[in-house]
Amino acid sequence: MEKRRIAILGSTGSIGRQALDVIRQHRDLFEVELLTANNSSSLLIEQALEFEANSVVICNEARYREVADALQPHYIKVFAGMKSVCELAASDDIDIVLTAMVGFSGLESTVAAIRAGKIIALANKETLVAAGSIVTGLARQYGTAILPVDSEHSAIFQCLQGACGARPVKIHLTASGGPFRTWNRESISSVTKKEALCHPKWNMGQKVTIDSATMMNKGLEVIEAKWLFDMDPGKIEVVVHPQSVIHSMVEFEDGAVIAQLGHPDMREPIQYALSYPSRLSLDNMKLDFARLHELTFYAPDTEKFPALGLAYEAIAKGGNMPCVMNAANEVAVKAFLEDRIGFYDISGIISDTMAGADFVKEPDLDDIFGTNTAALRKAGEILDKYSR
Ligand code: MG
Repeated sequence: MEKRRIAILGSTGSIGRQALDVIRQHRDLFEVELLTANNSSSLLIEQALEFEANSVVICNEARYREVADALQPHYIKVFAGMKSVCELAASDDIDIVLTAMVGFSGLESTVAAIRAGKIIALANKETLVAAGSIVTGLARQYGTAILPVDSEHSAIFQCLQGACGARPVKIHLTASGGPFRTWNRESISSVTKKEALCHPKWNMGQKVTIDSATMMNKGLEVIEAKWLFDMDPGKIEVVVHPQSVIHSMVEFEDGAVIAQLGHPDMREPIQYALSYPSRLSLDNMKLDFARLHELTFYAPDTEKFPALGLAYEAIAKGGNMPCVMNAANEVAVKAFLEDRIGFYDISGIISDTMAGADFVKEPDLDDIFGTNTAALRKAGEILDKYSR
């Protein structure tokens, strides 16, 4: 594999830190060109020094001085603000852009990187949820690839490597079921933030961990899979698989199913996206089948986890509706993390916001930004009614 020059947008988050751990194990194969962070200035400084980044961006301009003072003596270029992220992600000396920011805020820089023809290692699933047709259309137009980092989508992508171009008739998207899989609806209704943040299998950031507890994460992933693999959502089936050993499966018309398995560790799909099509060594745990004993599967319970049903509803409606849903979810998850609302209020707020949204059937990028702003405002108003 030839050396690759990497930009990590969101390097101080969970995915960003795990990506740097992958790079740490293969310093001869990867060069860190650009690191960006929203607020975590001290970790950004530490990372830039360790990996001898060429440039960094701190989005929060109030932290610029601190980062610049620490890094400029080491000849690392320091910039501030989202505009700089978009400009630098498009620069000539970058091969792959890992989009590891949280939420809708990742859309602008992802679009900028695609327009510059960069290969996208996509971890920021909200980008495809909010603007899937636009983002995939731009990737086709600019002749670049979007490689999945999300473990399920990486699994599907890996399964398809063995298909020689044959189209699957179905995708089986596995879900751990989150921490409340075996709880009843009444107990779930009073869960605390701390309980919801305890994911049984995956080590992830706060937003995606709450999304996993509500199963909205799986809803977002159904929409992500639709766009990545050009698959009708009706052919994307969610199956709860608590061991999280099978990371997803594809089924072909002869009934054959190909699955991808591994110990749940995000570094594996991150590394595959960065090294694709090569495979590299990784110091993760390997599967020991004799000790696994059994793998179990269940249908998802959309009564207990209504967010999953809302996601199917949003993508069936299409247009800007997934963007509305995503914005409402961001507002509601933030409020839940601030202890302002209860667990089921999250899906309540999303449902109410979707019901009151202005529908746009074929949104362009401006419509998407407008929809997001309007849905954030609307969800904020609805939130006030739910707040305790
Ligand atoms: Mg996932």
